[in-house]
Formats: sequence, structure tokens, C-alpha cells
Amino acid sequence: MTNDELPGFSTRALHAGQEADPATGAVVTPIYQVSTYKQDGVGALRTGLGTGYEYSRSGNPTRTSLEVQFAALEQADGAWAFASGLAAEDAVLRALLVPGDHVVFPNDAYGGTYRLVKKVFEPWGVEHTPVDLGDLDAVRAAVRPGSTRLVWLETPTNPLLTIGDIAAIAEIAHAAGALLVVDNTFASPYLQTPLLLGADLVVHSTTKYAGGHSDVVGGVVAVRDGDDGRGGTLSARIAFHQNAMGAVPGAFDSWLVQRGLKTLAVRMERHCDNAERVVDFLTSHPRVTQVLYPGLPEFRNHDVAARQMRRFGGMVSFRTAGVEDALAVCGRTELFTLGESLGGVESLVEHPGRMTHASVAGSLLEVPDDLVRLSVGIEDADDLIADLAQALG
Ligand SMILES: *Cc1c(COP(=O)(O)O)cnc(C)c1O
Repeated sequence: MTNDELPGFSTRALHAGQEADPATGAVVTPIYQVSTYKQDGVGALRTGLGTGYEYSRSGNPTRTSLEVQFAALEQADGAWAFASGLAAEDAVLRALLVPGDHVVFPNDAYGGTYRLVKKVFEPWGVEHTPVDLGDLDAVRAAVRPGSTRLVWLETPTNPLLTIGDIAAIAEIAHAAGALLVVDNTFASPYLQTPLLLGADLVVHSTTKYAGGHSDVVGGVVAVRDGDDGRGGTLSARIAFHQNAMGAVPGAFDSWLVQRGLKTLAVRMERHCDNAERVVDFLTSHPRVTQVLYPGLPEFRNHDVAARQMRRFGGMVSFRTAGVEDALAVCGRTELFTLGESLGGVESLVEHPGRMTHASVAGSLLEVPDDLVRLSVGIEDADDLIADLAQALG
């Protein structure tokens, strides 16, 4: 189905998977806080939203509602919700890899993704090659036809906002017999739909923009169905692992993410508006040595970002004269709260080198220590700029 044949993004966000509750007519999906379900005779399961319900690890109507909604937003054949973004990533890696397989991996990936691949999957016998996914020649050189099973792409990356060309990397991956996974957390499905550009799977930390209110931890895997290369389908494999490993979100967490998604489009527009204003301010500030934002024409792969993203997002990083300056800014902001995570309605500031990316210090993934990362929230832009102005001194 092409874009034009579908209802618009917000219509899907508000209606997919969200029929009124059949029992009461409640217009909002209820929080089905339950572990088990009455059977109408042995094995005769009730249906309702999706397939039969027998036990809430295997299926829960609130979770189904989120999964149907998310699949509609990513234009996926199916989506599966998890207890965190890393649980979603773990499910993809465990579902698709066996010892001896090789993974091509961003050299500035989210720190937790790197830790999972390096500390859990490497001892298990999975090899990985960190590569600059902003450089197609480097990606071509890193894939090993026959043994590379997955190319893992994060775009934009955290915290350097590197842009990888999803369509071009999908071609390289497929030509080598590998699948392409895209971590779409930073863009959100509103700004970017990797499955339409050739990716096979999408993962999200729904803790970030999808939930959007800094009140829930969660993850999702969305799949464009196809051959898993091992005698089954990708959908069946992810669905099987979700139940077999059991890292599922509870009903209330599922409900919070589902509610967050209803306002994703309006929130993202405002995040982008504010980020553009902040970028304008920072680029002309004498104490800022470099602004990293995919919307800047001089930013590497700006043209790719312009092609594959609706707008350029709410994450902005910038470099200062040195680590002291970076730490000082992080210590002085008042509206930008010093904290990890991102994508909530309130603005956050952090020092990646000592906070989110401390675990990759000394590795290939180390980030510059003069770097400050902003998650630009939906406050009034003038107030955010005034806060940065006073923090920069
Ligand atoms: C936060 C994050 C994750 C991990 O998600 P959790 O919900 O914290 O487990 C993965 N990828 C990116 C890009 C993230 O920002």
C-alpha cells in the first residue's frame, strides 16, 4: 500500500487498533490489568482485539492495541511491544543471529546497544564490525557476503546525529544476503519510515518520542514481513521470541505509550520548530564551536536527511571550547533539566561523555568531551533560548 492510499499519520495514530471497547463502548482502550482469561470451553479463547487471549505474556488486549497502532504508524506488517528499547533490540538480535554470524554496526551507536552487542553477543560468538554508517564505502567494505547476517543502522545517531542513507544501505545489505535493522528512536515514525525505504525491521525505544512524557520505559519491533533466511518469516520469528523470552510491557505501560502516540505528530512538529530556533541561536553564539543538526545545509549527509526525513527532529548537539565549558553549560541551565533520556515534552541537557556514553569511553565509540546534547522540548522557544543564553554566559 502506498502512502496516498492510507489515512494520514494522525488519523492512524488515533484510530488504528482503537475501536471502542466492545463491552462498554469506552472510547479509549481500557487498561486490561489481568494475567489470565476465561476460556469458553477447553481451548475456546475469546478474541476481540486480535487473536485469542489465554495469558498476558502471550497476549493482552491493551498491548495488542498498541501493537496494531504502532504497525500502522511504521506501515509495517506487524509490530511487537517490549518492556524496554533494549529488550526489543535483544529480541531482534536473539531471534535472528546464531553463533558465527557477523553484524555491521554503527561506530557511534547508542551506548546500550553497543554494550549489548559487545558484552552479551560477542561472548556468545557473534562478531561485529563498528563502521561509520554515514559513509557508504565504509559500509560496503565492512559487509561480508555470506556471513553478515544483519546491518544495524541508527539514523540520526545518538549523540552525534550522524545520518545513514537507509535506501542505499538496504541495497548493500540485501546484496550481501543480510537484513537491515533501523533504530528509528530519534526520528520517530512521524519523521521517518524506514520500512518504506527498504529496511526489514525497525526498533524503537518508546521511552523517548513515542511515549513522549518521560513517564514510561518501553520498546517496539516493527517488521516488513519476509523470509527470515532460516526457513520461516520475520514476523513469526519476532512473535515467537516475544512470547518465548517474555520481556513484555505491562498493560499500564502499553497504555501510556499508546496514549503518547496519539499526539506524536503535533509534538514532533513543535519539537522541530523549537530545535530550529535553538540551532539558529547556537550557530551564531561565540562560545559554540560547532552545532550538530541534520537540518544544517553544511551538516554531512544533510541531503540524505532531507530526502528520508519529513523534518530534522528535536535533538541538537553542540561543541564548546573544551570539557570545562561543556560541563559548565550542563550545570547552569534552569529550564533544560540535566538528565539522561530524551524525547519528552520537557527539555533536557546532558554531557554524553560523562553520562549516556560513559560506558563507551576508551572504545571506538567514544564521543568528544566538549560535546553537549540537548533534547529540545515543547516549551516556548524564547524561554529555551534565554536559558541557553544565560548558561553559555
Ligand atoms: C534509549 C535508546 C535505546 C534503549 O532504549 P531503552 O528504552 O532505554 O531500553 C536504544 N536506542 C536509542 C537510539 C535510544 O535512544
